[in-house]
Amino acid sequence: MRNKKGSQAPKPGAKKMTSLSQLAGYTEQSEIRVMSVECDKIRGINLAQGVCDTEVPVEVREGAKTAIDRGMNSYTRMDGIAELRQAISRKMRQYNQIIADPEREVVVTSGSTGAFYSACLALLDPGDEVIIFEPYYGYHVSTLETLQAVPVYVRLRPTEWEFTAEDLERVITPRTKAIVVNTPANPSGKVFSQTEVEWIADCAIRHNLFIFTDEIYEYFVYDGHKHISPGSLSGMAERTITISGLSKTFSVTGWRVGYAVCSPRVAAAIGYFHDLVYVCAPAPLQHGVAVGLQELTTNFYRELQQEYLKKRDLICAALEDAGLIPSVPQGAYYVLADASSIPGQSSKEKAMRLLEMAGVAAVPGDAFFHDNAGTNLLRFCFAKTDRELEEACERFRGLLSRLRSNSTAAKSTAAKSTAAKSTARERMTSTRGKSTSMTR
Ligand code: PLP
Repeated sequence: MRNKKGSQAPKPGAKKMTSLSQLAGYTEQSEIRVMSVECDKIRGINLAQGVCDTEVPVEVREGAKTAIDRGMNSYTRMDGIAELRQAISRKMRQYNQIIADPEREVVVTSGSTGAFYSACLALLDPGDEVIIFEPYYGYHVSTLETLQAVPVYVRLRPTEWEFTAEDLERVITPRTKAIVVNTPANPSGKVFSQTEVEWIADCAIRHNLFIFTDEIYEYFVYDGHKHISPGSLSGMAERTITISGLSKTFSVTGWRVGYAVCSPRVAAAIGYFHDLVYVCAPAPLQHGVAVGLQELTTNFYRELQQEYLKKRDLICAALEDAGLIPSVPQGAYYVLADASSIPGQSSKEKAMRLLEMAGVAAVPGDAFFHDNAGTNLLRFCFAKTDRELEEACERFRGLLSRLRSNSTAAKSTAAKSTAAKSTARERMTSTRGKSTSMTR
């Protein structure tokens, strides 16, 4: 569901129903879900939703099964089981260069989504301005809007999705409370560089801001790009809420296990709000991912990267061949492609046209911008099995000839209609001429 400006007035004479909340009147289905439903209808290939169809590591599966069999099925401490908090703390030190006390600075949450929502509840008041890079991940904006915080956009410049320190400075006001970072980013695939993270940290320190950093794709980085956690920079521990989870890394999007790492003061507030909504993350699944974090070696993460790099290259080559020029992602597992060649007035029309012509679902680019900057963009998710991805690529390759024949057909229809129009015009002119002469 997404926020929507302007709800509908009831029809005259309609039976009066108890009203929903004002907030509920401002929601609509996200484009991602809409496209998934449309895709299901025609049994197409769904490259719209960020659901990993790749295999769950056996250690993780067995860890969860064993936990269920051993009766670990009750509520856990509100900030998660000790084994998992300790495993996260170890991983944060080794991979993210962040020191976090597992007793007071790690909160296990219901997915990174639960972490972000609870963190926003903990830190934001209505009217607070929050800087967010665009193209953005829709849930971030919808969450801010739901809490009546005000998203303020910094537009990243394609094709490298760049920004400058001045771009950030320009949008600061006395109401600015926080910056949302998502690195590697959905949908652009941008991996924020050391310099860019330093600009953000510098800005946050000078203006006394919080940083919400969503690092759910931290292990999906390509071409030698390095994942940098803003919370690892000097002076940032107090003001950074590092959010991540295992949904993507272990291909367990339905398990709902994520976490927030932050100062004890913030962690206590996040824990309180998370408890109100979710109580705790699913107990046996916390055990499963704890085993994964404990037992999987660096080899697993290296292989994951290599596997997704192959998928990225496969889809980017096919999109290029189809004339849908991709912005090759540095990280995460989405690719934004230029859909100018697909007929349609809006990105939604283009996505629907692509689904019709190739049987492949993508997300309309407008879902990632607050204005119409995404009209000519489509987002494709490549977290798919190789078989499915190869089939999608085949379909892309067939698309170019169809687009060409469509455009030839459209041109010839246009030519015929121009010819028909000029014949009609000639006829009209001569008729007018006749009528004029007749009236004379
Ligand atoms: N953050 C980003 C940027 C995402 O793209 C997604 C899923 O697509 C999530 C968070 C959701 O993660 P989780 O399953 O941990 O809630």
